[in-house]
Amino acid sequence: MEQQNILSFKDLIKLFGSLNFKVTTIDELWDQLLRRFHETKLLEQMKVGRLDINIMIEASVFDLDERDDYYNYDSGLPINAAGVVHQSYPTLNNGRGVVDAYPLADCTFSEEDMSLLMAFGNIIYLLMSRIRLGINVEKSRYMDLMTGLYNTAGVRMEGKKLEAVGELFCMAVIFINLRGFSYTNKRIGIKNGDQVLIRYARLLNTLVGMNRGLAARLGGDKFLLIIPKSQLDTALSILEDVQIDIQIFDHTEHVAVNAWIGVFENSETDSIDEALESASVACGVAHATGTYHAVRFQPTMLEHSIRAKRLVASFDVAIKNHDFYPCYQPKVALDTGKLVAAEALVRWENHGEVLLPDDFIPALSDNGKMIELDLYMLECVCRDLRRWLDVGLPAVPVSINYSKENLIRRQLVDETLGMLKKYNLDPSLIEIELTELANYEDPRALEEFITQMHANGIRVSMDDFGTGYTSLNLLKDMSFDVVKMDRSVISRIGDKNESRDEILLRHTLMMLAELGTDIVVEGVETREQLEFIRGINDKLAIQGFFCDEPLSCDEFEARLTDKSYSL
Ligand code: C2E
Ligand code: MG
Ligand code: MG
Repeated sequence: MEQQNILSFKDLIKLFGSLNFKVTTIDELWDQLLRRFHETKLLEQMKVGRLDINIMIEASVFDLDERDDYYNYDSGLPINAAGVVHQSYPTLNNGRGVVDAYPLADCTFSEEDMSLLMAFGNIIYLLMSRIRLGINVEKSRYMDLMTGLYNTAGVRMEGKKLEAVGELFCMAVIFINLRGFSYTNKRIGIKNGDQVLIRYARLLNTLVGMNRGLAARLGGDKFLLIIPKSQLDTALSILEDVQIDIQIFDHTEHVAVNAWIGVFENSETDSIDEALESASVACGVAHATGTYHAVRFQPTMLEHSIRAKRLVASFDVAIKNHDFYPCYQPKVALDTGKLVAAEALVRWENHGEVLLPDDFIPALSDNGKMIELDLYMLECVCRDLRRWLDVGLPAVPVSINYSKENLIRRQLVDETLGMLKKYNLDPSLIEIELTELANYEDPRALEEFITQMHANGIRVSMDDFGTGYTSLNLLKDMSFDVVKMDRSVISRIGDKNESRDEILLRHTLMMLAELGTDIVVEGVETREQLEFIRGINDKLAIQGFFCDEPLSCDEFEARLTDKSYSL
């Protein structure tokens, strides 16, 4: 026989009305509800012997792993399992909430019972959703919404907690700046690039694992890890060689994710802010020096970084004041001793001191200023060439160094041609030197640049050939007009009888001659070096202190009138 339902909506509202809404977690809410259920026997009055709530949450930035949470009330009385009433609710972030109410043995739910249960389920669902929403709103203040890692504010908050309990000194901070990620984005598209960042973030999270510490995304392609010092070496060995596979349409793309990495190992007195700054400085050093392995912070780096910041801050004014200017270093034909060309090298007149490129280019490059400086230098050179022609000096072609940030800009070709036009110069009077090409991430842009330069009659040279990572493949794939041997190759010539350097230089010069590119050997300082080169090939040009150091414009004009060297 169907039992009389003696519960009214009033009882239900009374129960929910008595709840303390200050709870901040679903567990706290459930504990409170359970206590009320036992005290009031409300569920038994609703003929419910058992209540199972299951909340399934899909992985999202708020919950990086899928979650499956169970909440259960059991009256301890026998139930009628077949009479279960099942309700299902959507939750935030594509999850699902399920409420299963089992009637007491020998009971079934009437329609009125069902509507009461429905109201009951709805209220519980609303209360739980409200708490989850509150938690997510709070989390979002401290998290990066794309990856679910902490953001900068989150790092500070968690870092301060570690600082407060005195645990920061056991930790290492790893600052990560992905190498060439803008190229990855260009190659696979921004959406796929985002997927790579999300996977990378997950990898960082697994490196933190159950340890104290955190993983964070500081924006763009910059990440941070705080992990126990004991885990540092393992983490670094993993970060040095990361490959992330993503599915693009029907194929799997293997994306190598490499980074500039700076490490700071805390000592007891350091604050989180100092730790972050120091790791970031070490990362900047890795970037500026092109160091592929992690760079550990040294106190002297801080002085460099302060100096670099000062230089970057004064850049705009320096450009306006024309504090940058070109020096010209002659290139001399080895067989005739004639001045055949020159390279423009930038100098910075900074508060009475002349700064060399190595003092300021790394800092400017890190801050995206090299594009402007290269174009400024292009204009200086064009202006000088115009003047030499106007006063009847026998001008020679001048090469300009373009930094690699410049090459990805589509406008570069037009800007270069526009400048030649502005000063009414023949394109054969300038040449572009490209450097750091081996770690250049966008060979297609490079190839296109060279093709367009050639189409407009401008020669392109590969600078610094023979240094650390220059790749022979580039020589094979790209049609450079000139290859410039780096001075590090020639500098050891003449040390011993026939060193390995001599063998390398001899064979490289022979190979380049066979490839048919023009050759410039840089850094020739001594007669011995000069004669060594002449012994291999005299159909090339030399550039070095043996002929001339980089000259001021006036000094170089004097060379133009008297073009010969006795070699
Ligand atoms: P680079 O293009 O390979 O220029 C040659 C460097 O070798 C110059 O250093 C030159 O002064 C130096 N050098 C030439 N002959 C000798 C020699 O016989 N012995 C020694 N010890 N050194 C010699 P510098 O002027 O300090 O420039 C360094 C680098 O800075 C350049 O290397 C180039 O990569 C970069 N750079 C210079 N000017 C510019 C510029 O306007 N734009 C860009 N993007 N980079 C520039
Ligand atoms: Mg150069
Ligand atoms: Mg060079």
